[in-house]
Amino acid sequence: MLPDKAQLTLWDNLDADAIVDRSAAELPEPACFTCSFQAEDVAVLHLLLQRNPAIPVLFLETGYHFPETLAYRDKLAREWNLNLVNLQAEMSVAEQESQFGILNRTNPTRCCEIRKVGPLWEGLRHYKTWFTGLRREQSPTRANMHAAELHRLPTGEELFKVSPVAAWSWKDVWAYLKIHEIEALPLYEQGYTSIGCAPCTALPSGDDLRSGRWGGKKLECGIHTFTEAK
Ligand code: SF4
Repeated sequence: MLPDKAQLTLWDNLDADAIVDRSAAELPEPACFTCSFQAEDVAVLHLLLQRNPAIPVLFLETGYHFPETLAYRDKLAREWNLNLVNLQAEMSVAEQESQFGILNRTNPTRCCEIRKVGPLWEGLRHYKTWFTGLRREQSPTRANMHAAELHRLPTGEELFKVSPVAAWSWKDVWAYLKIHEIEALPLYEQGYTSIGCAPCTALPSGDDLRSGRWGGKKLECGIHTFTEAK
């Protein structure tokens, strides 16, 4: 029997390894992992691969990434033999810009809907369990999430959303990478602390690690808010 909401809430007391183990034992297959190749995602990826080397790694190929992100994705895909799945919008960047202009400047919410939310929604429909690298510390919008939740897609399908490092701090992420001798995306060396599409990513200001995203105009691109936690 699948765990209910009360049982899943107790997973908040487990460490990341135990959350991945409980997921493998109790949650339905197939599972996937959405990966932006930021530091916390790479830590979760490393944890997941130890149990499931063929887990599909979904990357939102928006067409607007830094070249460094794409090179790092390809390097890890090669070295870790990833089952990489690039999710793309139906419309190319050129088609979008010719039809709507530069949406990431005029209407980033719409741009994220087209290039991230739509493709992810379509991609997730094939899975029953969805792993993420989300952490509570990242944003007020994530502060109350549980490590494991049942979510409903707008089309009604349900899937479990599991964030094994929900409780980790920024320091914990880097400690994990160091212990396991994992090289991070080189953009961190330039001072970036949260890295998404190039036009919407700047160096952070102050202590807020995500302050460089979307010029502070919004907190989320929508991929973690379009499903409903039950
Ligand atoms: S993060 Fe920026 S460029 Fe990327 S999809 Fe969203 S608005 Fe578009």
